[in-house]
Amino acid sequence: MTKSMTILVTGGAGFIGSHLCERLLDQGHEVLCLDNFFTGSKENIEHLLDNKKFELIRHDVVNPIFLEVDRIYNLACPASPIHYQYNPVKTTKVSVMGAINMLGLAKRVKARILQASTSEIYGDPQIHPQPEAYWGNVNPIGPRSCYDEGKRVAETLFFDYYRQNKVDIKVVRIFNTYGPRMHLNDGRVVSNFIIQALKNEDVTVYGNGSQTRSFCYVDDIVDGIIRMMEYEVNPIEPEDPYNHTEPSLSGFPGPVNLGNDQEITILNLAKKIIGLTDSKSKIVFKPLPCNDPIRRKPDITLAKGKLNWEPRVDLESGLLRTIDYFRERLI
Ligand code: NAD
Ligand code: UDP
Repeated sequence: MTKSMTILVTGGAGFIGSHLCERLLDQGHEVLCLDNFFTGSKENIEHLLDNKKFELIRHDVVNPIFLEVDRIYNLACPASPIHYQYNPVKTTKVSVMGAINMLGLAKRVKARILQASTSEIYGDPQIHPQPEAYWGNVNPIGPRSCYDEGKRVAETLFFDYYRQNKVDIKVVRIFNTYGPRMHLNDGRVVSNFIIQALKNEDVTVYGNGSQTRSFCYVDDIVDGIIRMMEYEVNPIEPEDPYNHTEPSLSGFPGPVNLGNDQEITILNLAKKIIGLTDSKSKIVFKPLPCNDPIRRKPDITLAKGKLNWEPRVDLESGLLRTIDYFRERLI
């Protein structure tokens, strides 16, 4: 059991954030869940509201906030293409201003801060699988850029606060994550396919379905995020592999990939979900969205070696748990 801390989770009422809040409370910490409910909901954290160690703060991270905390998990940002493209200017603001405000807070109260970055910083990758040392292939002016570039600038800010102000930072690059409490209408592939299959409606594969993704169950991601936050370098271990000029207080700032390296084509995902739901749905093909990455799979060597972390939930078991969740919601 780690010592009890006061922990801020921005975006705590969202999909990953709500699972993170739950896990941190289970570990005995005080959790401040900050959210503006753009894509998150009170329903996601309703079961935590009676816990004396849980506090809900309605706030927008583009504005500064003053709190006393030991740890900050910065997750606030719409994450699905439909939601982050709804108001793209705001999406960039949330990533950039949110990072500045949270890093400023971390600097003031000497808190350790973790950024939920993303595989999108690799764009449409030309290296496969993607290691952390890859700089990516990102279109700076396309419809996905508000998210991709916003998250890239956030990483820049994290590393500048680290070098310039010695803020104790951690950066994780999260790959496609799925599980209970995904937003019903956020258009992400797992939730779309499950809902379509459960309703026996056409399952919409974009393009010819040969593009790949690698899907990680939310419990595994939460485990990896917390391991990274609490990971401290053994003084005799070599410093971080990217030659950052100053060591952070905890020694290893990242970035580190977190994701499942079981790769699957979107067409095979559709077939799998139709099979697991025993659905009568047919597969239909729709146009591929602009700049949709062709292949994506994390190289998780670093997370395995440093954090002793690897995903435990295989795709089929994770999908079955997620299908149960959506089945209950659709009744
Ligand atoms: P989500 O949309 O469910 O959660 C985001 C949360 O942030 C929501 O609760 C939303 O209301 C809140 N939020 C948005 N703008 C805000 C603002 N201005 N101020 C305060 N709160 C705000 O998405 P998620 O899938 O849980 O993603 C959480 C984080 O993980 C995001 O930063 C996302 O970029 C990152 N991530 C997620 C995935 C994934 O596959 N789910 C992959 C890579 C990275
Ligand atoms: N996708 C699809 N049908 C859908 C929703 C998504 O074929 O109904 C595809 C999408 O084009 C992409 C992949 O599934 O190739 C993953 O999409 P998602 O929006 O979940 O995540 P991201 O593109 O951000 O990885």
